[in-house]
Amino acid sequence: MTTNARRIRLLMALRRSGVTDTRVLGAIETIPRDAFVPDAFQDQAWEDTALPIDLGQTISQPLVVGLMTQALELGERQKVLEVGTGSGYQAAILSRLCRRVYSIERLKPLLDEANRRFQALRIHNITTRHGDGTRGWPELAPFERILVTAAGGPEPPKDLTDQLAVGGVMVIPLGGDYREQRVVRIRRTDTGLTREDLWPVRFVPLLSDPPAEASPPERPA
Ligand code: SAH
Repeated sequence: MTTNARRIRLLMALRRSGVTDTRVLGAIETIPRDAFVPDAFQDQAWEDTALPIDLGQTISQPLVVGLMTQALELGERQKVLEVGTGSGYQAAILSRLCRRVYSIERLKPLLDEANRRFQALRIHNITTRHGDGTRGWPELAPFERILVTAAGGPEPPKDLTDQLAVGGVMVIPLGGDYREQRVVRIRRTDTGLTREDLWPVRFVPLLSDPPAEASPPERPA
């Protein structure tokens, strides 16, 4: 089967499973997922499945990318924060649908590789940062949209909800236990936060790094 036939088959499967937003489908159609998948898995790049990338991480399943992107209700003029750059695929999809994407990844080799892909594909509206995304990106806050692509605990990180603009939307897998994760949509209104549980999912964990100042325990004098 040609890449084009595989791509059409994937888009039809996503539509059947509830990705109906034509802008989201258009982004999935035009971003070459094969450019984000390791050589060993090229034959599966257009399958609706998550695949391993380096350092024990994964590129998400296209259906999950489609549904989470759709759940964000993106506008063309918006500024979006992504936590968990990974392969860079989700960030590339977002880059087609909003003004600017800011993406944070804690594993430097993955980030370097993602940045190389963005350059090769001439995607110029993604800015990345190496660090702990649970702290958000305070210098650039507030964000109109926040997408977290690793699973947090039962509650969203407070730094992230604090950096969500009024009227803003955050989509994040929550739940703690791996088998009980759900994608949750959080909105900031004038009066506080609202929360909707959307659907079950399985993501790699959102890990919090120790503060940069933390040094090894001192030896007793
Ligand atoms: N969005 C990615 C999939 C990411 S997998 C894609 O499209 O390919 C989740 C990623 O989150 C992993 O790369 C992991 O290293 C990263 N991650 C986990 N905890 C993090 C944290 N606290 N800050 C930033 N990145 C984190």
